[in-house]
Amino acid sequence: MNKIAPHLDGVATVGIAGHVNPDGDCVGSVMGLYLYLTENYPKLTVDVYLEHVRPEFYYLKKIEDVKDSWDGETKYDLFILLDTSSKDRIGVAFDAFEMADKTICIDHHVSNRGFANENHIVPDASSASETLYELLEEEKITLPVAEALYTGIIHDSGVFQYSCTGPRTMEIAGKLMAKGVPFAKIIDESFNQKTYVQQQILGRTLMESIRLMDGKCIVGIVTKKQMDFYGITKKDLDGIASHLRMTKGVEVAMFVYETGIQEYKVSLRSNCYVDVSKIAAEFGGGGHIRAAGCTMNGNVYDVINNLTYYIDKMLKDSDD
Ligand code: 5GP
Ligand code: MN
Repeated sequence: MNKIAPHLDGVATVGIAGHVNPDGDCVGSVMGLYLYLTENYPKLTVDVYLEHVRPEFYYLKKIEDVKDSWDGETKYDLFILLDTSSKDRIGVAFDAFEMADKTICIDHHVSNRGFANENHIVPDASSASETLYELLEEEKITLPVAEALYTGIIHDSGVFQYSCTGPRTMEIAGKLMAKGVPFAKIIDESFNQKTYVQQQILGRTLMESIRLMDGKCIVGIVTKKQMDFYGITKKDLDGIASHLRMTKGVEVAMFVYETGIQEYKVSLRSNCYVDVSKIAAEFGGGGHIRAAGCTMNGNVYDVINNLTYYIDKMLKDSDD
């Protein structure tokens, strides 16, 4: 796919969505495309779907248009998914996607096998927002679109520090900045700022973390009981895995939190040489080389033991 425009020929209705538990890149790319289409193609009817959007993204224009469920009727000529690596990650818009006449997926996950009619997957891109930018006409990118895309890029690149950041990422960020994006405000309000309880749970998890494999692996755990105590949800745990990764000597960081009875969500991060997407894929998950995740069943010790088996193997393989 070169540009999005030819795919809109003969299309009257468009649905747009991202993945479950939307992160900054998901919200940024979904809203970027929504704003781009509504501002440049006024004849199109466009609906946008996302699961609960966190308040730190409320500065995005028309965020109030987001629907969190499908009405069970509306059939779209075209449905476009962003940042969504597999069908089981679609969430609230799953049925609308299945019912649509034509589907497109725009993504940057290496694990994406291409489940839509048309798939535009660029694993080298920093973010789905960067991938989307390349499909748009530069002169049609208005300030609200630029704000959304900039948000997505800074979130998935960790403000241009993760290895997924490339020269092109910086060029695009520069072009968006030239459109007047209030970059310092966006970085601070949507990325840096944490609520007091988010800081508390982060601090507690770091304090109670354990190191394995000569300090090359670090494990952080949050139980359901702790989440209830602090009155927090899974969205408040964002960023803890990345903080664990910053520990000197660590190659792989594992962050595990309880999501149900004998059920844990796992976030994996690596620094230099372990491909954590391969470890996540062993347990039905996916993601990127340096950031991946999966959901696992069993008690917390089963979960950690099953993961450390693969981590240990990969650390040893890389020693050879
Ligand atoms: P996080 O650890 O922040 O939840 O996710 C890190 C990366 O791994 C994200 O790019 C996300 O898309 C991917 N990821 C996390 N959990 C899962 C999962 O259960 N399945 C798949 N396929 N990817 C996941
Ligand atoms: Mn992404």
